Amino acid sequence: MGRYNIALVLGDGIGPELASSANMILEKINDNTTVKFNVKTAEAGDGALAKYGEALPQLSMEIIKGSQGCLKAPVGESAADVVLVLRRLFDLYANVRPAKSYPNVENLSDSVDLVLIRENTEDLYMGWEFQADDNTAISLRITSKRASERIAKYAFEEARLRDNKKRVVAVHKSNVLRMSDGLFAKTCRAVSQNYPNISYNESYVDACAMNLIRNPDEFDVILTSNLYGDILSDEAAQVVGGLGLAPCANIGESFGLFEPVHGAAFDIAGKNQANPSGMLLSIKMLLEWLSNKYSDNDAFRTGQHLESCLVEMFRNNQTTKDLGGKLTTNEFTKLLSLSMY
Ligand code: ATP
Repeated sequence: MGRYNIALVLGDGIGPELASSANMILEKINDNTTVKFNVKTAEAGDGALAKYGEALPQLSMEIIKGSQGCLKAPVGESAADVVLVLRRLFDLYANVRPAKSYPNVENLSDSVDLVLIRENTEDLYMGWEFQADDNTAISLRITSKRASERIAKYAFEEARLRDNKKRVVAVHKSNVLRMSDGLFAKTCRAVSQNYPNISYNESYVDACAMNLIRNPDEFDVILTSNLYGDILSDEAAQVVGGLGLAPCANIGESFGLFEPVHGAAFDIAGKNQANPSGMLLSIKMLLEWLSNKYSDNDAFRTGQHLESCLVEMFRNNQTTKDLGGKLTTNEFTKLLSLSMY
């Protein structure tokens, strides 16, 4: 149906290997479905900084700006100079992190299928910190009705689209942070009134952290602010077997950035050992986002198919070294590609 311009950021460490794996799968999709891609690669990260003096060089910026969405491999030490710049540039206000149990991947329960929606622009992450005196530091936190409302709407829309429990829990600490978290909670509650078919609950962040371990199957959509989301999303990833397989999306009104959660893994870079699953599940998220944005059902089906083929590989113990298997990054990607079409 659509032809999509996608920027593929190569990154550092295992980044280029993962980008090449992603490119192979994008080409396979391109050749076998109605979903077509124009992929342009862009350099960013430590390598780009050393080569061009900028972690996000002008040329890469132009490529990303000229694309509809960006698939980004992990970046090393200069990660903040790449991701934070892109987040601000495109106002990527929603950070979306699914956590799902997969076969033969160690987890706390076999039936976890949740997504954490984290507000990405406010809270303590504005960097407003002051030294009051030599022994005292002050950090300021911002919570606005506007940002709370748009992230709440995003979470309810996500719950509506998910073929799941249709359950949103807003996570905060309004018993202590009465004004800031109080506003967040009040706003989420108001938005929930527009979604009568989705069950809505609230939880204090400490109780949520506990229940994620005790009862992870109960969760569907977790809606929360920036700092709590940062912490809870890593916890949720660990519940289903660690960061290795976790994809993530940063979404704005007109742009989406998709990336694996893990870092550049310099210890295994260049060894053809990296597990590309987090990167490939990011393609699934990209496809679902394109599907919603451009009403492209084929893109949605293709994303689902990609995930099922990956699951099949895990089920058959066809995995890379980190999951106990013997396959190299290339072998894993080729087998997956063959199994798809
Ligand atoms: P960052 O600070 O950028 O998150 P980090 O060094 O804390 O980086 P990672 O780069 O994610 O964390 O690596 C942590 C460990 O997980 C390393 O031992 C690395 O080899 C391993 N690892 C990370 N990603 C993968 C992957 N895709 N495949 C296999 N192993 C991985």
